[in-house]
Amino acid sequence: MTEPARPALSIVAPCYNEEGVLPEFVKRVMAVLDSAGGASELVMVDDGSRDRTWELMTAAAATDPRIVAVRLMRNHGHQLALTAGLTLCRGERVLIIDADLQDPPELLPDMMALMDQGADVVYGQRRHREGESLFKRATAAIFYRVIDRLTDVDIPTDTGDFRLVTRRVLDLLLAMPERHRFIRGMVAWIGGKQVPLVYDRKARAAGETKYPLARMVRFAVDAITAFSVVPLMASMTIGWVMAAIGFAFFVYSIVGWLLHSNLPGWTSLMAAIGLLGGMQFLMLGIIGAYLGRLYDQSKGRPLFMIRDIVGGVGGGVGSGPK
Ligand code: UDP
Ligand code: MG
Repeated sequence: MTEPARPALSIVAPCYNEEGVLPEFVKRVMAVLDSAGGASELVMVDDGSRDRTWELMTAAAATDPRIVAVRLMRNHGHQLALTAGLTLCRGERVLIIDADLQDPPELLPDMMALMDQGADVVYGQRRHREGESLFKRATAAIFYRVIDRLTDVDIPTDTGDFRLVTRRVLDLLLAMPERHRFIRGMVAWIGGKQVPLVYDRKARAAGETKYPLARMVRFAVDAITAFSVVPLMASMTIGWVMAAIGFAFFVYSIVGWLLHSNLPGWTSLMAAIGLLGGMQFLMLGIIGAYLGRLYDQSKGRPLFMIRDIVGGVGGGVGSGPK
């Protein structure tokens, strides 16, 4: 069977419990695709939603052959759901977007124009974040600065996964087998010409964030462990410092013993035990974080599991996974 021609553009959106925004999202994306012209597709991935997201998605797919609805076996998380969509989409250029309309699809023409001028990646960079709590904005700001310090990849600050990439960049991205994916970092790591498009990030159109604190922390740890071994090295540095302090204590207590001036010393003993014990647990935790990810990776399980694909025509993704 010959490969059908690729559409010029794919839009890929992971969706988890997005029944509140989905119809509006589809409407706005399709309006953008209509005015852009050319062959295109919208690939939406239902990441194991528990609401009516899948029904709404398949209903949309029934109305327009450019819409493809993909359902995963269960909730895989944002980055893997996105990976599923990126694996299945077929466009020459691919726009990654959240389904909650925080990233306006109407920016597509501007992104396309920048790509026409030779960019490999055009990423949306947030100037404002409306409707997000101070806490979310503050933790996000800290996160992007810490990651910048710890890694030698230039991961642009204040960006999400909202970006337009070329097929070339996408294929390179998909060739990376890692399980704990931090896609915006992986795209930055690829290099080429990456240009920002500054925009104002809107509030969610409906529904609520799927990134509560625990998930954000996990995401941050994934990002840091995927791009930096500095925390592993940190245990060495801290170990040296602790050893130096311990040695100073040792000398101090010997001198005290010689001078017969040792105090009962319970306080300092407890302080030292506490400090050392704490540090050891912390360092073991850091090693555990890397080891656990290494273990996950070594199992070599599929990154995502597809349950259904509905929609699409012309032997596109709708005809089944490649
Ligand atoms: N999402 C997903 N699976 C998940 C969590 C989120 O597919 O387990 C999708 C979600 O539907 C949205 C995007 O990932 O399209 C970003 O999630 P969200 O808007 O909740 O994150 P935030 O913008 O609050 O960081
Ligand atoms: Mg959002």
